[in-house]
Amino acid sequence: MTVICWFRRVLRLDDHPALVAAAKDGPVIPLVILDPAEARAHPASAQRQAMALQGLADGLQAQGSRLIVRRGDPATVLAQMIHETGAVAVHGSEGLPFAGDHGLRAAVESAGARLHLHPLADLVPRGSVLTKGGTRFKVFTPFWRALRQTDIAAPLPMPRLSLPTTWPASDAPDWPEARAAMNRGWPVVARHVQAGEAAAHDRLDAFLERITARYAEDRDRPALGDATSGLSDALAVGEISARRIWHRAMNAQDHGRGGLEDFLRELAWREFARDLFHEAPGMDRACWRKEWNDFSWQGDNADAEAWRRGRTGISMVDAGMREMFATGRMHNRVRMITASFLVKHLMIDWRVGLDRFARCLTDWDAASNAMNWQWVAGCGPDASPFFRVFNPETQGSKFDPRRLYRDHWLKEEGARDFARAAPRSWSFDPKDRPAVLVDLDRGRQRALAAYRGFARKE
Ligand code: FAD
Repeated sequence: MTVICWFRRVLRLDDHPALVAAAKDGPVIPLVILDPAEARAHPASAQRQAMALQGLADGLQAQGSRLIVRRGDPATVLAQMIHETGAVAVHGSEGLPFAGDHGLRAAVESAGARLHLHPLADLVPRGSVLTKGGTRFKVFTPFWRALRQTDIAAPLPMPRLSLPTTWPASDAPDWPEARAAMNRGWPVVARHVQAGEAAAHDRLDAFLERITARYAEDRDRPALGDATSGLSDALAVGEISARRIWHRAMNAQDHGRGGLEDFLRELAWREFARDLFHEAPGMDRACWRKEWNDFSWQGDNADAEAWRRGRTGISMVDAGMREMFATGRMHNRVRMITASFLVKHLMIDWRVGLDRFARCLTDWDAASNAMNWQWVAGCGPDASPFFRVFNPETQGSKFDPRRLYRDHWLKEEGARDFARAAPRSWSFDPKDRPAVLVDLDRGRQRALAAYRGFARKE
């Protein structure tokens, strides 16, 4: 009896629990659903997924199988596919947020099939790393220590697939709606993406060859393009699993002491974010510390628009926002600086920034984005305190001392890429230098005064 394997943000054949379970259950129809709501909300991430499809289709074809692509709302598409194919079961992966799958189950079951949603191949099952008292960790460092003591399950090899006797029709493995919704020069962004499962494995191998003891230090230098793995977008669309990365890193040769350990610790941040999001699925909208919902955040406004367009007049902030717009990526240190500037110097609600990152990042991940924004805004469980205000110029001098990163995005090739990617409505002139939006010291004092008033009320 035929079953459907729904490749839901797990766009790979290796270490894919849903695929392994489907293969045991019957002949498999591999399915990807391109959901228009997703293309509208997260266009860069959707387009990044579309770029993974050809590699996935090729991998399946090498096994004599096929990738079926359909457009539409997942519940409707799954019901339709069950009617068309007579499939008795759908195997897919849990979605993020973890609690949002009720409509799917009802649709699949009323079409006459079973729905099995399998855990993502993360390092550990959600909620399994606990304090001695049996509660979830709210602070990263003890979570990391406990995770490090945990056995990480081995990745699952790709199963042999038996094939259905007939194949349903498929749409092309392309997502023009996502490209259109990005509202920016996609070909410019596409140059910064290496898509496909094989490319993700190659990138990991190359990174493990070059990682050194300097990783922890160098990962803060945005001008050093290859100091980090660059795997976040591949992880976000599921071209590679965290477990596969973990085990390869554990078996790799450490060129100098500790680089690999620091890298594993970064992977643990992703895991920590998932545990938090599992516990609080609304954390992309509501402050973890509820009292912060009453802080005097400003809503979306002209300052936020200047921030989005890389026109704050603060070089590190503008460079970062331009990098994200032109490449779909932004260096981690610069994400912290741009986010901090928005929520502290401009006092704009962190959710305005979170939404911008969710639209622009090819590595957008609901859990990591929410946890990191709440960390920067000071309202998360393990957050940088609000009164610790980054000075973006000092950060620039420290982490981009020769201005290579800033010059690239503000004056050189990056600036030209940004100009090519910018929509015509922005009338972007690369020679035009924006005025400083807010005096850094005044902005800092304003944020601290607001914080003092807020802390008194608490
Ligand atoms: P590496 O240094 O090679 O790290 C390896 C992996 O560890 C990464 O691929 C990533 O999966 C994980 N990781 C590293 N740092 C973090 C972190 N701080 N939080 C969670 N996981 C981490 N990352 C996303 O994947 N998606 C997001 O939507 C996202 N939004 C962010 C928003 C803000 C405001 C900030 C400050 C950070 C955000 N991050 C997000 C985390 C981080 O910036 C990226 O994961 C990192 O830039 C990826 O680069 P890399 O793969 O080369 O990292």
